[in-house]
Order: sequence, then C-alpha cells, then structure tokens
Amino acid sequence: FIQGPPKERLMEIRRQNCNPVTMKITYYKKPLFAHQGFMQWIWDVDGRRYLDLFAGVATVSVGHCNPKVTAATAEQLKTLWHTTNIYVHPTLHEYCEKLTSLLPDPLKVVYLTNSGSEANDLAMLMARLHTGNFDIITFRGSYHGGTQQTMGLTSNSPYKYPAATSSGCTNTMCPDVFRGPWGGSHCRDSPVQTIRDCSCAQGQCMANEKYIGQLKETFATSVPSRIAAFFGEPIQGMGGAVQYPKNYFKEAYKLVRERGGVCVADEVQTGFGRTGTHFWGFQGHEVLPDIVTMAKGIGNGFPIGAVVTTPEIAAAFAKAYHFNTFGGSPLACAVASSVLDTIKEDGIQQNCLTVGTYLMTEMAKLRDKYEIIGDVRGKGLQIGVEMVTDKASRDPLPPEAMGEIFEDVKDMGVLIGKGGLYGQAFRIQPPMCITKQDVDFFLAVFNKAIQNYLNRH
Ligand code: PMP
Repeated sequence: FIQGPPKERLMEIRRQNCNPVTMKITYYKKPLFAHQGFMQWIWDVDGRRYLDLFAGVATVSVGHCNPKVTAATAEQLKTLWHTTNIYVHPTLHEYCEKLTSLLPDPLKVVYLTNSGSEANDLAMLMARLHTGNFDIITFRGSYHGGTQQTMGLTSNSPYKYPAATSSGCTNTMCPDVFRGPWGGSHCRDSPVQTIRDCSCAQGQCMANEKYIGQLKETFATSVPSRIAAFFGEPIQGMGGAVQYPKNYFKEAYKLVRERGGVCVADEVQTGFGRTGTHFWGFQGHEVLPDIVTMAKGIGNGFPIGAVVTTPEIAAAFAKAYHFNTFGGSPLACAVASSVLDTIKEDGIQQNCLTVGTYLMTEMAKLRDKYEIIGDVRGKGLQIGVEMVTDKASRDPLPPEAMGEIFEDVKDMGVLIGKGGLYGQAFRIQPPMCITKQDVDFFLAVFNKAIQNYLNRH
C-alpha cells in the first residue's frame, strides 16, 4: 500500500484547508483513512478491509473501480475528454438514446449536468417556466440539493442556512407511517414491502388519506391553484429510507396536476435498479412523472447528473440558451454508458431484489428480537433501519447510542450510513453487486453490535 502523508498531517490539512463544516468532522470518531476500493470493498491505508454498505451515499452503483467501467473510462481517456458539446460527439448521443430507452414515453429529452443539486436546480427552473407558476412542494425530511435554489426544496435542518434560498418552496408532511402521526403496526406486517400497503379494515389506507389531507392543507396555504411542481424521492434517502403508503404518489400527482403543476421524481438515490423491482423508483408507485432527476449511481462515482423530461416541457425551456461546460462530456458519457451496460449485463437490478429482499427479511428477524430496532423498511438495496428507545414509545434512539453502534459496526469491518430527521435511522445503500454472503457477514456484525450495546447499558 502507498501510505501517502501521515494520518496526523492529513487531519491537519483537513482542519486548515478543507471545507470547514464537512471536513472538520469525520464520519467516524476514529476516521477512516481510505486508500483503495474494489467492488463492495474498501481498504484503508493500513490494509484493513471493510464491507462498504453505504457506497459513498448510494453512489457507487456497480462497485468500486468496477473493471468494466474502469476499462471503458480508460479507453475514453485516451481518445477525447471534452468538447463542451459544441461538436457532435457519439458518446453523448449514444448515451442519451440509451438512457431514454429505459424511460417510458414521453420522457425523451435529456439534459446532462454534473451533480444532483444541479439537476434539481434545473428541474425547478423548467417547472416554473413551463407552468408559469412558482410554488413548489416537497416533503419534510427531504434532501434535494445544497445549492441556494435547491436548499429551498431540501427540508432537513443540518443542511439549511439562514440565507435567501428559493422562495416559493413549501414542505408538506412526509407520509412516514412509522414516525408520523398516522400509520401503525399494520403498516409493517410484512417484513418485505414494496410500497407500504397499508391495508386497513376495508382495504382502504386510512393513513394515506390523512397524509393526502395534509397535502391538501399545504395547497390551501399556497398561491391558489398555481403549483409549479411537486418534488418527491420515491423512497426518501437522507430521511432514512422512508417509504410512503401505497397510492400516496398517485393521488399527490393527480392533485398537483389539477393545480397546474408538474411532478418531479428525484431518482438520485432510487434510480438505476436500486429498488430491485423496477429500474426507476417511481415505477414502483405506478406513476409517470413529468421530469426525472438523476445523479449518484448514474456514474458509479464519476460526477454526472441528468434531467429527463418531455418534449413539451423542453420546448418551454428552449427560449434561451442553457449551457453547461462539463455536462455530457465524452468522458462522463462513456462512464455513464458503461454503467448502464454493466447494470444490464451483470443482472444488477435482479441482484438488488434478491439480495435486498434477503437482507430485509433477515433484518426483520432482528427487529422482532430487539426492542431498540423499531422498523426495517425499504425496497431492493435502499434500506432503512429505524432505531428507537423502545417499541411502545418509538422515541428515536439518541445520537450517542446510535454513534456507539455505528462505530462498533465499523470496527468489526462494515460501513453503513446514518439518516433521519433525528439521526435515528441506519441506512444500507451498498454497491448493488453485494452478495448474500456479504449480507450474512453484515447481519452477524450488526447483531453483535446491538448485543455489545445492550451489554454495556
Ligand atoms: N437528491 C437526492 C435524493 C440526494 O440524496 C442528493 C445528495 N445526497 C441530491 C439530490 C443532491 O445531489 P448532489 O450531492 O450530487 O448535488
């Protein structure tokens, strides 16, 4: 292993020269000094191997340094990196065609960006120009970006600043059947759920009606009947893999459209097969968005994002130039194209379904065994484990306790993520190539970490 500068020196540079907020803190108390990655594994500078179940926040889709993607990237590196799209280069055209072949009609027009924030920023602008309306609705607990515009969409306090973010953004209650006021044990009868099928007494989801009622109340507080857009992650990522009651999206989309708005599916985390049953998260909700935004897994760690929309919306947006220097560079498109090929060739979506379902089924057994595991939810390899002080109160497990378990899991060789409005959920969003054996290893580690915690307290 190449050691690089000593750890103390790296920490000094981190404190002095790097983004002071994110960089002063490290995700772990004993920081992970990362060195190398291969598929679902990361090695630190001391040669210690970790099973990576967070994938740089659901980003490394087909595995760290996936050989197929690496080979395609290397090939393009030798040929042409960049043209700013003023010339006709095959990679961009081939990629746009390949990407849209995976989306239902009429989602056929692609704009390539460099990140998810940029994609959502663009989607906000498009929605407002197309509809002539201004108000945008998102869920509480959502994360859609950190630029000044998208910060208005984001509704998760650690990511908010006392600054003028986009006005006109309103957050509606997230239909979280576990932590929200409505929904109950019936919402988690089955350990593995697609969309939460809250089949109450008459096959009618009462919780859904209540949450839709909240959305209606949000409309009542906004400009009358003039909604520009509703942005929703098909499964809330930063919010802790929150799933919504069945039919929520369907009803919300209808109500938004009745008020002149367009519906935006933020697939930054849920796209590219991660949910297992479908290639896109929105398909699990049986809806058809007007705009789809993508990033993270689209490039397996290479910076690229995308907005895909309909020709009609694209036309409204075509009245001035939209220019993006790096968006859609030959290099980015070559990477993203090989990611799509790899997902297909390696049966990645099916793997998400099989391995993810296995993980959730086994994790649900731990939920039933331990008082402090309140909920296991998700779909495919977009999984949340909600930790509580006890099942009756459902109070969030405090940050110190979460931290203890989290550090212990890492010390035993597995990297997971944290999320939720109170930092109360563990997030499992691994490279989509993990195996059942990896899951078994993780479950043993997680079980031990919970036991260690309970023994200490
Ligand atoms: N949308 C979602 C759902 C995200 O999770 C994120 C990033 N966490 C973003 C948008 C923003 O993406 P980026 O960090 O690439 O700007």
